[in-house]
This record gives sequence, structure tokens and C-alpha cells, in this order.
Amino acid sequence: MMIAKEFVIHRADINNHCPNCFSARGMVFSFIQNQKENSWMILTSAEIQEQLFCQHCSQEIYPGAWDEAIERVYAYQKKCFTPMPSGVQLKKKSKLLLGAVITVLILGIGLWLSLQNDWI
Ligand SMILES: [Zn+2]
Repeated sequence: MMIAKEFVIHRADINNHCPNCFSARGMVFSFIQNQKENSWMILTSAEIQEQLFCQHCSQEIYPGAWDEAIERVYAYQKKCFTPMPSGVQLKKKSKLLLGAVITVLILGIGLWLSLQNDWI
């Protein structure tokens, strides 16, 4: 079973006016990356979710409602963080199992070669 986790990798309070309630206080940009984890491995998604939330009116402000000023701040904020490297990370248990499988394979090939060539 995979457990999904969300990591806020960058969060910035911005001073723009909310297109909803026009307040210039409480707009927050969040950049979120997802990880899925089970006891064998961790999968990190390459995709970054972007969210603009107004704490004043408690609404998410979707990209369609952004004005030019918000777009500019967004373009800037996007450069202010480095995403987590995406891909698969094996846990200790998986590495041990993989090591054991490779060892068995090598021993098997060695034994097979030995038998083929009358070495033993
Ligand atoms: Zn608002």
C-alpha cells in the first residue's frame, strides 16, 4: 500500500491584491510536490502543484483569475526554489533483497558455467 505525502517545497506571502476580495493581505503562493511511499520504496513525482490561496477570503485563486501583477510574481517565485529530485528511492529492505537476488544470480551463472566446462 502506498502512502501519499505532500511537501510544500516553497511558500511565499505576496503583497498582491486578491482578485476576489481585493485585500492585499493574506495572499500565499505554495509550491507542492508529491511523494508516494511504501515499505519498499519512495516515489517522488516530478510534477509541481502550484496553489495561490487568499487567507483573507479563504479562497483558492485559480490561474484563470490571476492578473498581470500576480503572473509576474508567479514567474519570479517559480525561480526561488529547487524541486526535490524526482524518481525512485529504494529503502534498505529493497536494497538488501536486490543484493541477495544479484548474488544468487551470479552464483547461479558461476555454477552453470562451471558445469558446462567441467570445472567441477
Ligand atoms: Zn481574497
